[in-house]
Amino acid sequence: LAGDLGRLLILDDDPGVARLVERAARTARFDVRAAIGPDEFFELLDAWLPTHVALDLIMPGMDGIEVIEEMGRRRCPARLIITSGVGPRVLDAAGRSAVEHGLDIAGVLAKPFTMAAFRRILGAEGTGRMSTIHPGTGATGSITALDVRDAVASGAFSLAYQPKVFCSTGAVLGFEALVRWDHPTLGPVGPDVFLPIAEQEGCMAEVTDQVVRAALAWAARLPDDSMQIAVNLSPGTMTLTDGTEAPDTQLADDLADRCAAEGIDPARVVLELTETSAMSDPVAALATLTRLRMKGFLISMDDFGTGFSSMLQLVRMPFSELKIDRSFVRTALRSSESRAVIQSAITLAHALGLQAVAEGVEEAEVLELLRDQGCDLAQGYLIARPMAGPEALAWLDAR
Ligand code: C2E
Ligand code: CA
Ligand code: CA
Repeated sequence: LAGDLGRLLILDDDPGVARLVERAARTARFDVRAAIGPDEFFELLDAWLPTHVALDLIMPGMDGIEVIEEMGRRRCPARLIITSGVGPRVLDAAGRSAVEHGLDIAGVLAKPFTMAAFRRILGAEGTGRMSTIHPGTGATGSITALDVRDAVASGAFSLAYQPKVFCSTGAVLGFEALVRWDHPTLGPVGPDVFLPIAEQEGCMAEVTDQVVRAALAWAARLPDDSMQIAVNLSPGTMTLTDGTEAPDTQLADDLADRCAAEGIDPARVVLELTETSAMSDPVAALATLTRLRMKGFLISMDDFGTGFSSMLQLVRMPFSELKIDRSFVRTALRSSESRAVIQSAITLAHALGLQAVAEGVEEAEVLELLRDQGCDLAQGYLIARPMAGPEALAWLDAR
């Protein structure tokens, strides 16, 4: 039955470790190949399409980080297991680097490890991080710019809604709208994949407009007219110019018009934008954000902690909420660094009079920790996955 659960490709210069890993994988009913050098490794990666890769971080004459970077460039969909004899901080850093390169991490293992530990990681369920890009085939580049332009023109997108709740009481404050695209042949395609293409093709403003309209129309049907609705704004949105030097004044007016059309108070609408969106042109962003706040909109700083903006510029922006990036939240239990980042983000938020939101909360223990740290709001699979409009209303009703 070997091979019916997956294909594992090993890159490790230590034959003893390679044999141990191979045995562990075979008992877990995996097919196994081992490569001794990077050339053979990448050949097998392309030709054999492994479902899992076990990579030794440090090998003579080879840099594991470079291998990770190259796997990222090839958009490798395999789940990665990083092993090494280096200290846990370096291993963790390598794991983070792999995630940043878009790879799906199954786990990191410090050497020496047991067969059982390896098998546990092998058997662990995927995060689904890359699964929307590669529906099991490893094929990539199958989504063309034309596909995306067609989808925009025909309004093929839909929205999923994920609730945001108070840490202390579990009460629902509102929902975040997340765009979805069900491709006719490829199936669901993630926003991380098609939004950059839309941006490149110059149709992002149209996508945002479609998302805003649909989200506001849905929010108008919420049973409680104090509930918030959040939408994500792409980096380009802040600095659109109408051909003159002036930053985009249109955005605030357009959004206000859309709210008026649906009878929604802008004070219920949260605009989420990332640090990088706000900072690519801080002067224009400050003007646009201030204008939006004056119209009553709330503004959330999304993915906090992942950018490298100057703290001074950041705190001068008129945000109303700070969203701690899920990369810190999901590692909160096992990383003291993540806990330190979360705690200082909460402290910073409160010092600036902002609400602190943790996204990507998957475990009850994490919610507990966030509560202890004084975090205001939480969002994540533990509370609810993003749901289609009717499903989200039913979820709210059942609560
Ligand atoms: P984001 O704004 O940080 O959105 C949160 C992402 O985390 C969503 O991924 C959501 O499905 C996922 N998520 C929520 N809870 C959990 C959890 O507990 N665990 C894990 N692992 N993930 C969780 P999604 O929907 O794939 O969206 C990815 C990104 O695409 C978003 O990140 C956002 O930056 C962008 N995006 C989504 N919709 C829109 C949109 O309408 N407009 C723009 N401009 N960007 C959008
Ligand atoms: Ca968001
Ligand atoms: Ca986020």
